Amino acid sequence: MNTQSVFTIQKKGIFLHRLVYIIFLLQRLLRQVLQKDVSEQTTVLVSVLVVIFFLLEEFSNIRDYFNNIKYVRALRYAECLISSLMFGMLQLNESSGVSLIGLSLLFMVDFFLTMEIADKDKVTTYSVMVGVPLVVIIILKMSISLDYRWLFLFFDVLMIFVILFFEGYLFVDYIGEKDEKIFSQKREFQEIVEKNENILSMQNKLKKTNEQLNVQRVNLQNANRQIQIANKEMVAQAEILHYISMSFDVSKISNQITDSIMYVKQLSFCGVYIKENVYLNKHASYVIKTTIGQLHQKIKESLPDIYDIMIEDDVMELALHDDETSKVPFLQNVNINSVYIKVLGTDEETYGLFIIGDSRKYLFRDNMSFYDAIIAQYDIAIHNAKIYGEMQQMARKDGLTGINNRIYFNQLFKEHLTLVEKEDGCMSVALFDIDKFKSVNDTYGHLAGDEVIKCIASVAEQCIEKYDGFVCRYGGEEFVAALPNKKLEIAQPIIEELFEEICSKVVKYNEYEIPISVSIGLTSYPEICKNTDELLKRADWCMYYAKEHGRHQINVDDGSVERV
Ligand code: GH3
Ligand code: MG
Ligand code: MG
Repeated sequence: MNTQSVFTIQKKGIFLHRLVYIIFLLQRLLRQVLQKDVSEQTTVLVSVLVVIFFLLEEFSNIRDYFNNIKYVRALRYAECLISSLMFGMLQLNESSGVSLIGLSLLFMVDFFLTMEIADKDKVTTYSVMVGVPLVVIIILKMSISLDYRWLFLFFDVLMIFVILFFEGYLFVDYIGEKDEKIFSQKREFQEIVEKNENILSMQNKLKKTNEQLNVQRVNLQNANRQIQIANKEMVAQAEILHYISMSFDVSKISNQITDSIMYVKQLSFCGVYIKENVYLNKHASYVIKTTIGQLHQKIKESLPDIYDIMIEDDVMELALHDDETSKVPFLQNVNINSVYIKVLGTDEETYGLFIIGDSRKYLFRDNMSFYDAIIAQYDIAIHNAKIYGEMQQMARKDGLTGINNRIYFNQLFKEHLTLVEKEDGCMSVALFDIDKFKSVNDTYGHLAGDEVIKCIASVAEQCIEKYDGFVCRYGGEEFVAALPNKKLEIAQPIIEELFEEICSKVVKYNEYEIPISVSIGLTSYPEICKNTDELLKRADWCMYYAKEHGRHQINVDDGSVERV
C-alpha cells in the first residue's frame, strides 16, 4: 500500500473515529447512569482519554499532520497502547471490556494500515509492537486478580490478535502475489515495450542500411557505368592503336578514329582536317562524321579557315560552351552547346585540325584524356604515314630524276596489265633512249649529262601523266612510258607530243647549251602485240630500229620489226 493511499484512508477514517468515540462515550455514560457497579472515576478517565483522542485527531487533521506517515503511525501506536492500557488497568465489566477491545482493534487496524506492508518481517515487527504490550498487560491484570472471565477475554483477544496477525500475513501474500502479477505484467509489458523499441530501432537500422544500400547501389551503378565507358574507351583506343600499327593509310585511320569517337562518345559531330602535303598527300583531306546531315558540308568548308585563324592567333586548342558556340559560323541556328577544336601537330609543325561537338552542355570542360590519347595516337599515325610515304617514295623513285624507277614501274605495269587483260582493255608502251649520249658526256662532262637525263625525265613525266600514263627511268639514259587504255592511234600523237617536247629542250649547263634528241619505239596491245609480255620487248626492238635508221625519230610498231 503506498503512502498516498494511507493518507487518504486516515483522513477518511477520522469521521468513523468521531462516530466511534461518540458512541463509545455515550455508551460509557449510559452505563454509568444505568449501572452503579461501574466506577465513576474510570468513566471519567476513559471519557477524558476518548476526548483527548478526538481532539488530537481534529488537531492533526487541521494541521495536516496526517500527511506525515511517521506521525500517523506514532499516533496510532500511541492510541493502541493507551487503549490496551485502559483495557488492562481499568476496572471493567464484560460489556465495557468488549467495547474497549473494539476500540483497541480499531486503532490496531488503523496502525496496521499505516504500515508499508511489503514484507512479512514488517508485519511481524508491527504485530509484536502492538501485541506484546497487550498480552503483557492482560497477563499482569490476570496475575493481580485471578478471574476466569478475564482468561476467556484474554483468549478472545489472543485469538483476534492471532487472526489479525495471520490475516496480515495472508494480506502480504496476497499483495505480494498481486504485486508479483502486476510486476510480471509490468515486466512483460516493459519487455514488450523494449521489444517494440528494439523492433523499431531494428527497423530504423534496416531503413538506414537500406538507404545506405540504395546509395551504394547507385554508386555501384555509376561506377559500373564509368567502368563500361572506360572499357569502351579502352577498346576503342586499342582498336585505333591496332589499326595505326597495321596501316599507313591516313584516310582509313581518320575514318577509324572518327568512327570510334562517335561510337564511344555519342557526339553530334567529329571531324579531322589535314592540309595538303603533310604525308605526301597532294590535296587536303577531310573526314567528317555527323548525326546532323546539313552540317557535313558546312564543317568541311569552314575547317581550313578555322585552322588558319587559330594558327594566326597562336591558339592550339579551343573549348566553346553554351552561347560561345555561336561564334563558330557553321554552328549558328544549330543545337550544339559544346565544341572542342584542337590544332593537330606540334608547336613547331602543325598539320590540321580535330573538331568535335555535341548538344550536351559543358561536355569538353574536363575528362579530355580519351581525346588527348586518341589525338596523340593520331599524331603518331600521321607521322608514321609521312615517314612511310617518304620511304615508299624513296623506294619507288629514281634517285637522280625523281621519276619512277624501274622496279616500281614494273609493279605498276603489272597491275595495269592485269586490269587490261581482265577488262579487255589496251595498253601502249613507248621506250626511248637519248641519242649519242656518250658524246654528251664526253663533250660537256658527266654532270652535264646528268642534267640532260633529269630534264628529259621531268618533261616525260609531265607529258605522260597528263594522259593518265606513267613513266620510269628504265636504265642509264633509257626511259619507258606506259599509256594504259590507249590504243596505238591514240598513243601515237601523245608520243609525238612527247618527242617534240623533249627534242625542243636545250639543257643549259654552265656556258653550254646542250641540244637533246631521242629515239622512240612505240608498240601496243592488243593491236600489235598479241601478248602483254611482248610489249616491252617489241618497244625495245622498235627503238633500236629507230636508232639504226638514223635516230631522232619515232618508230611505230607495225608488227614487222624483228629483233635486231
Ligand atoms: P646511241 O645513240 O646509240 O644510244 O648512242 P649512245 O652514245 O647513247 O650510246 P650508249 O647508249 O651505248 O651510251 C650510253 C651512255 O650513257 C653510256 C654511259 O656513260 C651514259 N650514261 C648512262 N647512265 C648515265 C648517267 O646516269 N649519267 C651520265 N652522265 N651518263 C650516263
Ligand atoms: Mg642506251
Ligand atoms: Mg643512248
